[in-house]
Amino acid sequence: MTQSQIGLIGLGTMGAMLALNIAEKGFPIAVWNRTVSVTHGFKAEAGALADMVTPCETLADLVAAIKPPRAIILMVPAGQPVDDMIAALRPLMAADDLIIDAGNALFHDTDRRAAEAAEKGPHFLGIGVSGGEEGARHGPAIMGGGLRADWDRVAPILNAIAAKYKGEPCAAYMGPAGAGHFVKAVHNGIEYADMQMIAEVYGVMRDGLGMSAAEISDVFKAWNQGPLQSYLIEISGEVAAATDTHSGKPMLDMILDRAGQKGTGRWTVIEAQHLAAAIPAIEAAVMARNLSSRLEERLAGEAVFGAAPQAGAKLTLAQLEQALIAGKILCYAQGFALISAASKAFDWPMPLPEIARVWREGCIIRSTMLNDMATALTDDPARNLMLAPFFADHLKASHGALRQVIAAGALSGLPLPALASGLAWFDMMRTGRSTANMIQAQRDFFGAHGFERVDGIADKHGPWAGHGI
Ligand code: NDP
Repeated sequence: MTQSQIGLIGLGTMGAMLALNIAEKGFPIAVWNRTVSVTHGFKAEAGALADMVTPCETLADLVAAIKPPRAIILMVPAGQPVDDMIAALRPLMAADDLIIDAGNALFHDTDRRAAEAAEKGPHFLGIGVSGGEEGARHGPAIMGGGLRADWDRVAPILNAIAAKYKGEPCAAYMGPAGAGHFVKAVHNGIEYADMQMIAEVYGVMRDGLGMSAAEISDVFKAWNQGPLQSYLIEISGEVAAATDTHSGKPMLDMILDRAGQKGTGRWTVIEAQHLAAAIPAIEAAVMARNLSSRLEERLAGEAVFGAAPQAGAKLTLAQLEQALIAGKILCYAQGFALISAASKAFDWPMPLPEIARVWREGCIIRSTMLNDMATALTDDPARNLMLAPFFADHLKASHGALRQVIAAGALSGLPLPALASGLAWFDMMRTGRSTANMIQAQRDFFGAHGFERVDGIADKHGPWAGHGI
């Protein structure tokens, strides 16, 4: 029997699709699943690819089925299951074998596992995989972290299974240890904000302009032909067009407004706070998901204050499109700035242009604009994206519309937290003389914290010395 070139553990939604993708690209694969019947069912349903699949009932069989030096992908839930699988594999694998965690791990866990691997073996890679079930089957975006040599060892397989943008694989090495999972978390944070901004604009159309789901679908479909072209706008057009088979009403109108989350957006926000990076649009999107789940409290609020007088927002669809363009640029600029901050803080030289290139296909946030972002970041990776001439021109043309949409939302009681937070960040980023002098004065008054003066005079305290508590 030919030995497999790689192994995979966890034949759930993602693992099964990834294994088929690997087999289809010509790499014989050995698979193991905690529930043994799933392993056999997978082989039975692999169709023409079944010959490429070796089902294994024990981990020892799995390890024996793979050609050394071995590589085994873990596609199990993040957290304890990953630690348990590593602990179970360690005694069975050689020191130069490789375990690849392809789930959505918290990057701090990946850092810890990489350090443990360096001490106890086998080698360890943490890779972020984006694109959901469809992406895993036909081409995800892949963000790798760990030792460069380990990445290079499995790169032929990962490049083969990754999505392609004009023939270029959407897979890349992001840096040491947790860098791949960090970039994946930021990807998900941006995804939260992109989705939230689309939902906010949908809300303006539904509640402010009184449009039907079918009319809104047409708008998204039209926008998908322009600068907003993206997977998320495309599927928003599709979901808005769908009809519920039970009620015959628009499907969107029958879905409860309580959004779920698995935590990667929250991780991004927490890490941004640790790094003192400002990602308010992403924070607002996480906050909006949290608040959405508090349906009872929102209903209680509506009972006390009344529903906001929403209808009658005086906005054009062109203004909404421009507002969304501006919001999208601002949320991506914040996400890339966070990666830049992490690069410096962790001493990980994460390749910003490469990240934008990897996100162009396969992942949930794929869009035409990411190609322009890759170009802008190649020109100057250190510059904030909003200052790149291409995006600065877009923002100059669109931030007025963003203001009008937010103003109309505020006057009509339509909540637009991500768009408004994006604009607040933009306005702070273009204000040379901010109001932090007042903060410094207050801090010096109550705590004698001192301040810097605009004229360079060394005196660090105000004339209120002694008034503090
Ligand atoms: P599923 O729930 O579909 O599958 C989970 C798999 O892990 C199953 O094979 C299950 O085996 C196995 N498993 C669960 N617990 C354990 C354990 N304690 N020990 C060993 N095996 C275990 O999950 P997904 O495929 O959706 O997700 C897998 C990983 O991929 C997660 O980290 C997820 O965050 C990440 N991911 C998911 C995406 C998605 O769109 N679904 C997108 C990108 C990443 P069993 O059959 O025995 O239950």
